Amino acid sequence: MTYDAIIIGGGAAGLFCAITAGRRGRKVLVIEHNAEVGRKIVISGGGRCNFTNKEVSFENFISQNPHFCKSALAGFTPQDFVELVKKHKIAYYEKKLGQLLPRKFSCDRRHATHRMPQISR
Ligand SMILES: Cc1cc2nc3c(=O)[nH]c(=O)nc-3n(C[C@H](O)[C@H](O)[C@H](O)COP(=O)(O)OP(=O)(O)OC[C@H]3O[C@@H](n4cnc5c(N)ncnc54)[C@H](O)[C@@H]3O)c2cc1C
Repeated sequence: MTYDAIIIGGGAAGLFCAITAGRRGRKVLVIEHNAEVGRKIVISGGGRCNFTNKEVSFENFISQNPHFCKSALAGFTPQDFVELVKKHKIAYYEKKLGQLLPRKFSCDRRHATHRMPQISR
């Protein structure tokens, strides 16, 4: 089998990269050495999946190149993620300080209500 892109690591960054490449018609392989992808996603927000923060800005990141964070956040804003969540009719709420979480979420994969792959298409 041949792929247009091979992504090492199925965390938040790798999965989103795979989604973006897939939407552009690329054939993508994600290689993850854990038994499941997105492990940190499901434990974020105290196990409730903190999918974005509407108050986030480049000033919240420590980087040797702060301009990278400016351009990265300008390319895909927290509001863009909110629109994605709305598009898939996932109800959400603000926990505190701009933290947004789905209303129904379980990190128990046997009973998961919303999982990241569900919003991938
Ligand atoms: C307990 C906890 C709570 C958190 N709570 C929040 C929160 O409330 N809000 C928030 O915004 N963030 C939170 N975070 C942080 C957030 O989860 C991470 O910043 C985010 O998930 C990082 O995504 P990533 O894709 O950059 O890295 P990772 O999630 O670390 O993904 C990297 C992936 O690559 C895989 N990998 C690495 N090397 C290889 C290899 N050689 N071959 C194959 N696979 C490999 C790893 O197994 C992993 O799955 C929390 C993190 C933790 C641990």
